[in-house]
Amino acid sequence: MTGFVSIRNLRKSYGSFEVLRGINLDVAKGEVVCVIGPSGSGKSTLIRCINRLEGFSPESEILVDGIPVATGRALARVRAEVGMVFQSFNLFPHLTVRENVMLAPRRVRGTSRADAARRADQLLARVGIANQADKYPEHLSGGQQQRVAIARALAMDPQVMLFDEPTSALDPEMVGEVLDVMRDLARTGVTMIVVTHEMGFASQVADRVIFMDAGQIVEQGPPAQILSNPVEPRTRNFLGAVL
Ligand code: ADP
Ligand code: MG
Repeated sequence: MTGFVSIRNLRKSYGSFEVLRGINLDVAKGEVVCVIGPSGSGKSTLIRCINRLEGFSPESEILVDGIPVATGRALARVRAEVGMVFQSFNLFPHLTVRENVMLAPRRVRGTSRADAARRADQLLARVGIANQADKYPEHLSGGQQQRVAIARALAMDPQVMLFDEPTSALDPEMVGEVLDVMRDLARTGVTMIVVTHEMGFASQVADRVIFMDAGQIVEQGPPAQILSNPVEPRTRNFLGAVL
């Protein structure tokens, strides 16, 4: 069985330091996978490899929807199917909220201005900030900015959404509003891979939790098993430290 996202023997090194040491992972269409693990374990590198924001070693293979994550035209096809949300929101400061969401469909797809604006307003409503569309990002709270970043990623109608600690840079009172949007998204059947320290979210929303350490998947399974009843000592130690 291969997944909608299929990762085989993923290896990556920085110089002599091997940050990913043979990751194998299949994510089914519609599945929500949360990736947890200590800082420096390779979680960000793993998800950045999926749309090749990071290169990886030649013996590794990643397929998204059957398309190899390679270079050139295949990579452009993969990137059109993969949306990404980062810890830092990375909105364009000189564009309004609506313009931020319109940008990729305009540039990449050549969508008309009117269609892109209409779609942007739908997406902004979906993430609960329709009334902020004409503002510039600096006038929004962190939670609102991150919701714009999610709307911007959704504007390309991705098949897979990658999240890298989307709530880690937020003030605590804003974490919930972003997780709520992600929870809604999960319900709509979008395939999601979420690096997070939010164990409550993982336990409620994930179909599967993956624990990584030192560039490898140490343990994985349903959230109830991994978060409450882990087998591996490293998983226990990590959860003991964060819970
Ligand atoms: P995580 O997201 O789990 O905290 P990362 O994937 O960011 O881990 O990083 C894994 C390891 O790779 C860390 O030890 C980090 O210092 C190292 N690393 C990440 N990016 C680079 C880079 N550009 N050059 C060298 N080492 C890096
Ligand atoms: Mg990281």
